[in-house]
Amino acid sequence: MLDNNKHYWIGLEEVEKLLAKGEGWLSTHPERELITKRYLRYQRSLVDSALERLISDEVVLDDEQADEDTIEAMVSLNDERLGTVLGVLKASGARRVLDLGCGEGRLLRLLLEENQFAEIVGMDVSHRSLEGASRRLRLERLPERQKSRIKLLHGSLIYHDERLVGYDAAALVEVIEHLDPARLRAFERVVFEFTKPETVVLTTPNRDYNVKWASLPDGKFRHADHRFEWSREEFQTWALKTASRFDYEVRFLPVGPSDSDVGSPTQMGVFERKDILPQKLDNLNAPQWGSTP
Ligand code: SAH
Repeated sequence: MLDNNKHYWIGLEEVEKLLAKGEGWLSTHPERELITKRYLRYQRSLVDSALERLISDEVVLDDEQADEDTIEAMVSLNDERLGTVLGVLKASGARRVLDLGCGEGRLLRLLLEENQFAEIVGMDVSHRSLEGASRRLRLERLPERQKSRIKLLHGSLIYHDERLVGYDAAALVEVIEHLDPARLRAFERVVFEFTKPETVVLTTPNRDYNVKWASLPDGKFRHADHRFEWSREEFQTWALKTASRFDYEVRFLPVGPSDSDVGSPTQMGVFERKDILPQKLDNLNAPQWGSTP
């Protein structure tokens, strides 16, 4: 398929064939779009119809079982999560920020509204998501000054990418759980060894909390595309180990309503590069204004 070498006529039955062959792996494959396009010889309507069926977008819950309260709680959790990430990024003092796995650009839109962020880069492996982001941000219609602050990149978090080097902060919002566990090592090196922003804000679902979603069937993940969901202990163990391996400090913040037994629905790790921390503290202690030398 990847040699792009298919010459016979492609029709609807090819979509069926692709979906049948891809059952169980294609919908969660990071290159599902490329595979689908190549298989269907870039025939737009067929590609769209295949992708539509492959990508069971956002969520989560069985339609029939999902009760309105749960859906509403999930929607407000999304907002709260983005608000918290935005707050942490602002507080970090970052001016040049990355949104890695930016999806359809919800966070990008909030970042764009803040003048603090002079340079904003959204990156995603999915063309479709990037197209969505471009629409959401109305990139085509932005005034030149705004447009020059933001850039969308196609790329993957499991490959070292020079374009991502030299930023102050990176957000990874609900992305890590979409990665194949076998690729996590590569991901860690890409983010913390090569890209190396001063601050990394990473969120992921807290599996412990899943029992609170009444309509989430036992043992099921919140999203069809999730490869895993970590308990608080699993996440913290991973984060502490990763921080220490790459010379970062990490602290943890809950996002969403907190339950005394199972914590909050989203868990967040804020990583800060150790070599930068003393500088940040100096800045905090430095006289701010009105002081004489
Ligand atoms: N951060 C966004 C989207 C979360 S969904 C939000 O909070 O709304 C997860 C996103 O990660 C998807 O857009 C998916 O395409 C992207 N993704 C999955 N694997 C990736 C990879 N290897 N590199 C970059 N992005 C990836």
